[in-house]
Amino acid sequence: MEEMETLVNNQRSFFMNGNTIEYSIRKEKLQLLKQMLKKYETDIYDALKIDLNKSEHETLTTELGILYTEIDFAIKHLQEWMAPEKVNAPMTHKGTKNFIFKEPYGVCLIISPWNYPLQLALAPLIGAIAAGNCAIIKPSEYAKATSIILEEMIKDTFDPSFVKVVQGDKEISEKLLQQRFDYIFFTGSTAVGRIIMKEASKHLTPVTLELGGKSPAIVDKDASIQLAAKRIVWGKFTNAGQTCVAPDFLYVHDKVKFKLLKEMKKQIKSFYGKAPLKNKDYIRIINQKHFDRLKNYLHNGSILHGGNVDSEYLMIEPTILDKVSWEDEMMQEEIFGPILPVFTFHDIEEAVERLKPQEKPLALYYFGENGKTQQQVIQYLSFGGGSINDTLYHLANPHLPFGGVGNSGMGAYHGKYSFDTFSHSKSILKQTTKFDLPFRYPGGKLSQSLVKKIMK
Ligand code: NAD
Repeated sequence: MEEMETLVNNQRSFFMNGNTIEYSIRKEKLQLLKQMLKKYETDIYDALKIDLNKSEHETLTTELGILYTEIDFAIKHLQEWMAPEKVNAPMTHKGTKNFIFKEPYGVCLIISPWNYPLQLALAPLIGAIAAGNCAIIKPSEYAKATSIILEEMIKDTFDPSFVKVVQGDKEISEKLLQQRFDYIFFTGSTAVGRIIMKEASKHLTPVTLELGGKSPAIVDKDASIQLAAKRIVWGKFTNAGQTCVAPDFLYVHDKVKFKLLKEMKKQIKSFYGKAPLKNKDYIRIINQKHFDRLKNYLHNGSILHGGNVDSEYLMIEPTILDKVSWEDEMMQEEIFGPILPVFTFHDIEEAVERLKPQEKPLALYYFGENGKTQQQVIQYLSFGGGSINDTLYHLANPHLPFGGVGNSGMGAYHGKYSFDTFSHSKSILKQTTKFDLPFRYPGGKLSQSLVKKIMK
């Protein structure tokens, strides 16, 4: 506890001394972050292979690639993001200049999960650095190899009073949360999100909560079936379904169900081969607890495809389940694994009504060609963000904010939204000294009727 107190105090002094403020410093630190990733690329590939059996291709596309894009984007736009934003003023403020100044919070805590253990620890850090903060990162204890390399490379690159990785489990996390932080950025489960918010409230520390949920993939009767199949299979089984925005369940129009499932089975074979458990790059389940939880789901409904498991290497085949009930255990929590239950609807109104009362998911995917129906789905269902005729892809666009709503979280990041998340918007009014409009002062000459006119 004492060690953590010292660490936070050191970071606060570092911040207070102005070591993170200047544009040139922030830019240099972002460049250093990129160089660090390049230098350690091979170790990163090795670590992710150990933790999740990730192939180099998957590590590059879903972890490193996203980080490189985010860093480049931040470096490119940093100066413009940091510039005070000029705003207009009403007539009553004649002679004033008004602007919003983006101020760093100070010392930030970033707590991250195991499923994209590199990307989800460092993507928030890009925002924290760009906005001029110091940061402590607490990665997940379940992706041990990645946590070790994270700590090593950060230590090798940054002063610990600027950025530091603190490894450990929930007890360490709890101890860190006893400290006073100026911002907390948490990525993980909804249950732990609640704990984070409660702890943060003790110091009135603002939070971003990037949580999960049950994200539906809806396929309508006019969807392009082949593409829908390919994109849903990719979105669901990337990282063996251990993706916060993976389609949790499939909701398909009964007219196209058979055709879609046939195509999906074809796609699974084309991506992972006839025996995915023998595929050297097939992702494994992170630990025994999650493996057992997922294996148990295989007793729900009936298996349409897959269903085999490898208990030694903690692998579960890409699996499609039919005849699952909305009341089954697997429909009460986020599946977070390579198992996709299928439900059908007869018209889209029915699907929308069924989904409306459910907890707001992190993502939603709608496949269909009709613009009006696309609009209806976006307008009447609440969810963090999503794609039309695709899955996952929205999160890799740095121009779009990424975050949840309701049970799937609060706040958002990526691109400029990361910078804004880690900045306080300070409103500044600069008054003129050349004249002084009298009407706001008591006892002035202007009649009340004139004031009423101006301020109506
Ligand atoms: P988790 O909530 O169990 O753990 C996340 C982090 O919190 C870990 O670092 C862990 O050590 C720490 N933690 C655990 N219990 C804690 C406690 N009581 N007090 C303080 N800290 C604690 O989540 P996970 O299993 O690592 O990740 C899976 C979840 O994360 C899923 O629900 C998934 O949807 C969600 N997720 C969300 C996003 C997103 O961007 N919204 C991304 C990835 C994962």
